[in-house]
Amino acid sequence: MISVNARATAGAGEPFRPTTIERRDLGPKDVLIDIAYAGICHSDIHTARGEWGPTIFPLVPGHEIAGTVSAVGSEVTKLAVGDRAGVGCMVDSCRECEHCLAGEEQYCLKGNVGTYNAIGKDGRPTEGGYSEKIVVDEAFTLRIPEGISLDVAAPLLCAGITTYSPLRHWGAGPGKRVAIVGLGGLGHMGVKLAAAMGAEVSVLSQSLKKMEDGLRLGATEYHATSDRATFKSLARSYDLIISTLSANVRMQDYLGLLKLDGSLVNVGAPEKPLTVPAFSLLDGRRSLSGSMIGGIRETQEMLDFCAEHGLGAEVEVIGADQIDEAYERVVASDVRYRFVIDTSTLAG
Ligand code: NAP
Ligand code: ZN
Ligand code: ZN
Repeated sequence: MISVNARATAGAGEPFRPTTIERRDLGPKDVLIDIAYAGICHSDIHTARGEWGPTIFPLVPGHEIAGTVSAVGSEVTKLAVGDRAGVGCMVDSCRECEHCLAGEEQYCLKGNVGTYNAIGKDGRPTEGGYSEKIVVDEAFTLRIPEGISLDVAAPLLCAGITTYSPLRHWGAGPGKRVAIVGLGGLGHMGVKLAAAMGAEVSVLSQSLKKMEDGLRLGATEYHATSDRATFKSLARSYDLIISTLSANVRMQDYLGLLKLDGSLVNVGAPEKPLTVPAFSLLDGRRSLSGSMIGGIRETQEMLDFCAEHGLGAEVEVIGADQIDEAYERVVASDVRYRFVIDTSTLAG
C-alpha cells in the first residue's frame, strides 16, 4: 500500500479536511500517477452534498485528474514512467458487455466503476483526485498530449469529454447552429469545442455578465435567459442545444428554441427531476436526450483534438485549503471557468 495525502469530507456539507488514504500496490497492468492538478466538477459538489442519493463517506472526490506517471506494472504498454497522464470519471468497467466492447465503457451494462464514490473490483471504496497519487489500470488512463499544460488539461477529463461526446454524436459542425446553455465548467468547454468543430455557437446564460468571455471563447452570439424576450426572439433557431445546467429550469422554454427535428441534449444533472410538457416535444418533432461523459477511446480523441486546436480549460488554480470556498463559488455560478486544485498543497 502507498499512503498519500488527500482531502476528504466526512459527511454531506461537512468541510474538507486533510487526511491520508491508501493506494493499492501496483498490479501488472496498473499505473501510478503523481497527480499535479485535480479539477472541481459540479458533480463533486452534488456528491459531497448528498444531492444524488447516498454517498460513501468519508469522500475524496475528483475525476478530472492530470499528472505524471511515476511507476508502471510489469505488463503496462500504454504509458511509461515520465509520461503525462490523465484519469477521468471511470477507473474500471466489466470490459465484456457490448457497450464496453464498443468503447462506450461509461454505459457498461454492469455499471462502470466511478473514480470516487464507487466500490472498486477489490471491494474497497474508490477515492478520487483530491489526492497526491492514484493507481489505475492502464485501460482507464489517458495520454495527455504535449502542448496542453497539466492544469488546463485536467478539466478536459470530465468537462471536455462530456461536451465533446454529444457535440460529435449530434453532428455539430459547419452549417449547424448550436446553443450552449450555462457558461460554467462544462459550458465553457462546450463553446470552445463546438466552435473548433466549425459550428455557429450561441451562449445562453442567466445574464450578460460573462458575454465578453463567451465571445472570446468562440461564440458569435450571447443571450441572457433572465430576459423572457430572449425565448421569443430566438424561437426555432437551433439545430442542437446542449444544456449544462446544474439546476432545474423550464425545459419548454429551451425546447421552443429548437428548429424542426432539433435536439436538446441535457448533460446537467440537477438534484430534482426534469419536467417536460408533452406539447413542447410534439411541436417541431423535437428530441430531448441525455449524454454521460464519454468512453476512453473518445476521451483520447478529444484530448488529441484539443491539442490540435490549441484548446484547454480556463482555470483558476487554488490551494487545498480553498476547496470549501470554491464549492460555494461554483454553486453561485461564480467560476471562470474551472477551479483546479494544485495537489502540491495537499500535505498538511
Ligand atoms: P458549473 O460550472 O456550476 O456550471 C453550471 C452553469 O449552469 C452555471 O455556471 C450557470 O451558468 C448555470 N446555472 C447554475 N444554476 C442555475 C440556475 N439556477 N438557473 C439557470 N442556470 C443556472 O457546473 P459544471 O461542472 O459545468 O456541471 C454542470 C452540470 O453537469 C452539473 O449538474 C454536473 O453534475 C453535470 N455533469 C454531468 C456530466 C455528464 O456526464 N452528463 C458530467 C459532468 C457534470 P450561467 O452563469 O452562464 O447562467
Ligand atoms: Zn465531472
Ligand atoms: Zn461492460
